[in-house]
Amino acid sequence: MDTVPEMFASMVFDDRAMRAKLPAKVYQSLKKTIDEGVELDISVANAVADAMKDWAVEKGATHFTHWFQPLTGITAEKHDSFIAPSPDGGVIMEFSGKELIKGEPDASSFPSGGLRATFEARGYTAWDPTSYAFIKGKTLCIPTAFCSYGGQALDKKTPLLRSMEALSRQALRILRLFGNTEAKRVVSSVGPEQEYFLITKEMYDARPDLRFCGRTLFGAKPPKGQELDDHYFGVIKPGVTAFMEDLNDELWKLGILAKTEHNEVAPAQHELAPIYTTTNVATDHNQLTMEIMQKVAARHGLVCLLHEKPFDGVNGSGKHNNWSISTDSGQNLLSPGETPYENAQFLLFLCAVIKAVDDYQDLLRLSVATAGNDHRLGANEAPPAIVSMFLGEELDAVLKAIETDTPYEGVEKVQMKLGVDVLPKFSRDATDRNRTSPFAFTGNKFEFRMLGSANSIACVNIMLNSAVAESLRIYADRLEQAEDFEGTLQTMIKKTVHDHRRIIFNGNGYDEAWVEEAERRGLLNLRTTADCMPLLLDEKNVKMLTSLGVMSKDEIVSRCDIMLENYCKTVTIEANTMVRMARKQIMPAIETYEGTLAETAAAKKTVVPDLACSYESGLIVRLSQLLDEICARADELEAAVAGLAQCDGIIAESQAIRDEVLPRMDALRAPVDEAEVMTKKDLWPFPSYGDLLFSVK
Ligand code: ADP
Ligand code: MG
Repeated sequence: MDTVPEMFASMVFDDRAMRAKLPAKVYQSLKKTIDEGVELDISVANAVADAMKDWAVEKGATHFTHWFQPLTGITAEKHDSFIAPSPDGGVIMEFSGKELIKGEPDASSFPSGGLRATFEARGYTAWDPTSYAFIKGKTLCIPTAFCSYGGQALDKKTPLLRSMEALSRQALRILRLFGNTEAKRVVSSVGPEQEYFLITKEMYDARPDLRFCGRTLFGAKPPKGQELDDHYFGVIKPGVTAFMEDLNDELWKLGILAKTEHNEVAPAQHELAPIYTTTNVATDHNQLTMEIMQKVAARHGLVCLLHEKPFDGVNGSGKHNNWSISTDSGQNLLSPGETPYENAQFLLFLCAVIKAVDDYQDLLRLSVATAGNDHRLGANEAPPAIVSMFLGEELDAVLKAIETDTPYEGVEKVQMKLGVDVLPKFSRDATDRNRTSPFAFTGNKFEFRMLGSANSIACVNIMLNSAVAESLRIYADRLEQAEDFEGTLQTMIKKTVHDHRRIIFNGNGYDEAWVEEAERRGLLNLRTTADCMPLLLDEKNVKMLTSLGVMSKDEIVSRCDIMLENYCKTVTIEANTMVRMARKQIMPAIETYEGTLAETAAAKKTVVPDLACSYESGLIVRLSQLLDEICARADELEAAVAGLAQCDGIIAESQAIRDEVLPRMDALRAPVDEAEVMTKKDLWPFPSYGDLLFSVK
């Protein structure tokens, strides 16, 4: 068996493979394209394609595909084989530069939010050389961007790459002002921690709600949930260990830096964290990770649930987006420096993030908005739907000192005049942990915790990169014109801290009191997708995203549409599934049980006529009431769904989903869950929460 270093990235056409397989000149040109975005000559592309194909065929590949990320949030691929007929009646394996660079999938079934209607129905995919090609199964996968013929992005990768570009451009302006003449690029990096549940395939198959919706729509709480906190970091069960080992191997072969794995808070919940990498690659890798988790689980007779809230009453699953920015030479710009001057630069980047998060709370919130994640945000486990930042006591004190021109009472007493007096060295480890903040500074990076486990990390990073680029743009505009650099810098930092103090919150984000406090501070509290998504179209947001070249107005409008449509469709499917389960399985089961009880009571009375049979009759009475309630509420839910047809436009429909459909789903669930615990176990048509959560051995 291969050792890990041998296995690692063995299925990736990475730098090592390129150097080994490409002629030196071709390698140099390709490297220039990868590192500096220089356009690739077709003769070079042909040579790359040929070498890539030989490499892939050697590894057993028979097909290739352009691998892309349409707005469905998952990945898409269309396989073509390498074969081409040869004159002797056989075939040869062929792959041209043209096929490498551009593809034309029939894209008419992907969501476009109306974008494609104005152009041709077909879209095209374009090779992204900054993310390595890899082999999955027997297919060479080429990461690509997906656009309409008019050049409008129909995917998540394109705006992500544009946002990285925008951030780099603006950050370089700042670095130049601080005397850095070396840096060629600034890159944003991400390490996404991924949570998930594992249950057995057998349990999964027995529940239509899991099969159709990825989450349970009914289910009474088990006697034991996560109360004892005995699962968190607990010993990993053999079945799960086998899954994790297999998963690691698969991820490593694809060059994914899977690093940490442990049990999470809820029973059957686990987490995987990779080592961070460039945002673009991290996004591709996270999509792959989610896909491979599901595949590997299937091999082990398990199902990997990536839904944000598969079970009511136990923790849902999120994804932590650990984000930082650094220069091409590896200097982390969010790392406090050694000298006062470096620290001034650090504080400016820090302020850029503070300003960005406050100015664009809405964009950050809506970038994680889905029907699934709405169940998590604001519940008692995840960060609330309110965006705020945690900086830690030390940094907070430093900023306060700057804001108020008072000495900083840190380790040493120092006057906070940037670039003049010594800024204290912040000890990174001193950043206390705050697990309840949606956006926490963790020493040299920010951890954004509002993402749902099934979210693509692209959207969040598009918004984060763009918003920070915008702060930096404003700073650079001012500083480049400044006569007194240090004075202007000092004033700007002071002003940022003063203007955006409201976004900083170091307390407990789960606390009810915080909701009121946040409201007093004027922070947004956007509870649902229907509430936040339309804000994407706000003038300030459109202006920022278009002026930085991240998205066009059309692209923004289309995305808002697609996300709302997705929200409406998801909830509608859930509602229909509930009604179906209630009518076809749950109500008949309750009735059967009532029948059994009635028969038993009658039989008992034939033996002892004056028996009260209060056990049976009590149950029959309560179950009958519940049955009537279930019946009525299923009808009401069905009517609410039918009423959606009357809505004028997608925004109105999403509001009707929020106000009419979702509350009726809760209303239907309550009597069902009550009836479940009163009904004989083997008559209940689905595995219980206890069965599901403790099914994996
Ligand atoms: P935890 O948050 O669970 O304590 P860690 O601090 O080890 O975990 O890191 C979590 C994630 O943050 C990992 O994916 C790690 O690679 C990533 N990470 C660490 N440093 C950086 C950085 N400078 N930029 C981006 N991500 C980082
Ligand atoms: Mg973390």
